[in-house]
Amino acid sequence: MSIETFDPIAYFENRDIVYSTEGKNVTEGWCNIECPFPFCNDPSNHMGVNLESKLFSCWACGEKGGMDRLIQELEGCTWPESQVILSQFQENPYKDIPLDTKYPETGSKTVRSRDMKDILSSFSDQFPKIHLNYLKGRDFDPEILIPKYRLKACYNTGKYKFRIIAPVIMDNEIVSFVGMDVTRQAKVPYKNASDSESVISIKSCLYNLDNANETVILVEGITDVWRIGDGAIGTFGKKVTDEQVNLLIRNGIEKIYILSDSDAYYDWKILAEMIAPVFNSVELLELNSGDPENLRGDNLKEIQDLIRK
Ligand SMILES: [Zn+2]
Repeated sequence: MSIETFDPIAYFENRDIVYSTEGKNVTEGWCNIECPFPFCNDPSNHMGVNLESKLFSCWACGEKGGMDRLIQELEGCTWPESQVILSQFQENPYKDIPLDTKYPETGSKTVRSRDMKDILSSFSDQFPKIHLNYLKGRDFDPEILIPKYRLKACYNTGKYKFRIIAPVIMDNEIVSFVGMDVTRQAKVPYKNASDSESVISIKSCLYNLDNANETVILVEGITDVWRIGDGAIGTFGKKVTDEQVNLLIRNGIEKIYILSDSDAYYDWKILAEMIAPVFNSVELLELNSGDPENLRGDNLKEIQDLIRK
């Protein structure tokens, strides 16, 4: 699923939005509608969507951007909801095969918050002792952590057995999750939800982004975020994707402190150099030893003070 393969015409038809692909104001390869932006006084159809790039642009008021932004404006919905809508109106992958073949269905359901699928339905709010002891053993207080990060537990069955489930929340919607091993035996201590288990692919999300201001500390893991608190945001691993960098830009982040795990310092040094031009300030921090999660006392406070002035 991507914006590039979104089918604007199928979407406009489904939503009864009047559009034209030819005639007055319409350039070939574009599809025009009435501009939905509040400060646009244009009563005509000057809002064009380029059918190739899927970028929109209003000739009257100058608004432009991607389909996710246009959908948010048309529906008054959150960004995660716009992603779900994008996924429902994808171009038919079989459009070039003969007409007598049965076409796969394109989505038609109107998505609102209450309809977003509950991807955590198989997990529990009851925490077994082993899960609680694991958190305490890592110097976290379950009484604070569980409600704050809306954690759940998976007990002894299924793919996520003996894991604490940390939901990934974007714009207050649960869109993915991480399963964290409590046995200290698993080969993969942090298991990210697959794309099919998620509403939005986890590597297109950032952990705890909803609770960040313009100054943030970028860390790898969810436990690094738990240790530092609000203002720290997690990338779910060493690799930082373009989508994640775009999210930082989209959310108006201005100042970024980059705090890698000790084994990823040089990778994140390259990251820092790469993203420096697009933010007001990017600063690479280095720990003497260990990972951000291991910070305690004055060392921890020093880091927290960077984002809590
Ligand atoms: Zn306009």
